[in-house]
Amino acid sequence: MGLEENLPSGVLLTSVEKLVNWTRKSSLWPATFGLACCAIEMMTTGAPRYDLARFGMEVFRASPRQADLMIVAGRVSNKMAPVLRQIYDQMPEPRWVLAMGVCASSGGMFNNYAVVQGVDHVVPVDMYLPGCPPRPEMLMDAILKIHAKISDEPLGPKRAAELAESGYRTPMVPSSIKFAP
Ligand code: SF4
Repeated sequence: MGLEENLPSGVLLTSVEKLVNWTRKSSLWPATFGLACCAIEMMTTGAPRYDLARFGMEVFRASPRQADLMIVAGRVSNKMAPVLRQIYDQMPEPRWVLAMGVCASSGGMFNNYAVVQGVDHVVPVDMYLPGCPPRPEMLMDAILKIHAKISDEPLGPKRAAELAESGYRTPMVPSSIKFAP
């Protein structure tokens, strides 16, 4: 918003859309869960040395109903996939997903029957982050790119319509993944 540049003139103009997006990106709360080794780097990112709190994100929520960012930190086994999807479904809209590391993004080195070959088979992904594991600086960079994405997103039905049009929110769940009734 260029707050510092505009304040001296004493006049601030913005749109509701920009204001809402600014509040959303300034208080992203990630869901608390890690799946494998990448989660160690995610935890480090939240610790004082890297200080994720600078971006309004220190509050990792134990309840998905209070979270709007899912960081998939690690490989997703087929058995875990329905659980991950359930957590995603319990998160309120708008919500965003970050696939952290090659395992979450594509299955990585685990090219076998037990591991989902990319979490985008289970939930829609907003950002893919390569690395094994990605360093905390890389995770923060990906988060800041999600911030930038949020800043440009339309609000309300317009957003839902755009997402539906692009097929963006339509997950492709492989038949090997069984959901609880
Ligand atoms: Fe572990 Fe590497 Fe896979 Fe991350 S990408 S879960 S560090 S094996």
